[in-house]
Amino acid sequence: MNPKLTINLDQLKHNASKIALLCQSAGVTVSAVTKGFCAMPRVAEAIIAGGIKSLADSRVNNLRRLCTLEAEKLMLRIPMLSEVEMVVHYADLSLNSEWDTIRALDFAAGKQNRVHGIILMFDLGDLREGVFNREELIELAKKTSMLDNVSLKGIGANLTCFGAIIPDEQNLGQLVSLAEETARTIGHDLEIISGGNSSSIYLLQEGRLPSGINHLRIGEAILSGTESAFGRRLPDMYHYCFQLTAELVEVRKKPSLPIGTVGKDAFDQVPHFVDRGIRKRAIAAVGKQDFANHNLKPLNQGIEILGSSSDHLILDITDAERDLRVGDELAFALSYGAMLALSTSDYVSTRFIGGAC
Ligand SMILES: *Cc1c(COP(=O)(O)O)cnc(C)c1O
Repeated sequence: MNPKLTINLDQLKHNASKIALLCQSAGVTVSAVTKGFCAMPRVAEAIIAGGIKSLADSRVNNLRRLCTLEAEKLMLRIPMLSEVEMVVHYADLSLNSEWDTIRALDFAAGKQNRVHGIILMFDLGDLREGVFNREELIELAKKTSMLDNVSLKGIGANLTCFGAIIPDEQNLGQLVSLAEETARTIGHDLEIISGGNSSSIYLLQEGRLPSGINHLRIGEAILSGTESAFGRRLPDMYHYCFQLTAELVEVRKKPSLPIGTVGKDAFDQVPHFVDRGIRKRAIAAVGKQDFANHNLKPLNQGIEILGSSSDHLILDITDAERDLRVGDELAFALSYGAMLALSTSDYVSTRFIGGAC
């Protein structure tokens, strides 16, 4: 059924093993982030087969989908107070910054007879999650380490998500020194110092990751084979493990300039067009309802994306290398955002290539 998301499990396994080895060589363990593919268990299995033993997601519902897989589970988004029971049930540890939530996790863990791991988040300047003040973090660590049903595992930081701040020796160095200060205060070393996401990969490649950082949470680099500080491709990795296939429902010659008075399009934008004369156009049956406003890239030569509305992808196929007709399928590479959106769309089917079965 079209549209469909084709996922190459063998290529993902390869990417996961490359990332695992790169990290291992610097003494860093990896949690593979599964939100980019809505935590489909078969995809997570391929990543585990690549040698990564910990899975992480922002949504507890996604972690629940992974519950039968043998791997550590890490909850990435600061838990909601209203979901602490679920978090304790489906995650071994979670990222946290709020005392009320940590106390609630402790209470829930007690009721479930479990010990839940806590990583305290420190904000190094990206201004998304995390405690902003060093003394406050140490205080929170002290209080957390006194609870019975949670275990303070470490501290972590997230960068390049909101403020687009790039990790470097200086900001990650601050995290390491804060971990040392925290350890002195609570009287024992922290097991985990979690130094970010796929934007920290370039530091590893250049041998510049501050020593002490021993954990990363990696999604994009595994799924797309790219690091996310500068958007560079990583060598010897696959970049199109996820592809969208869409089917053409109309193929017609039309002018390139719309005719009549210009108002606003279906998404309240005033569009701009360049007059290129009569062009051969096609409509593929997929749209913003499926991939939101994220980027797709045609994998067939000579295809240009003109735009999209909720259910239509409008293409210029004048320079296509073959004569395209209604019913033909086209393949598209996906940005991380498009992948995330497409894998949660009920209108998109999934096809796996390779893997165990
Ligand atoms: C999504 C997320 C990640 C993974 O980021 P990538 O850029 O895909 O590697 C890591 N940490 C947190 C807290 C996240 O929310």
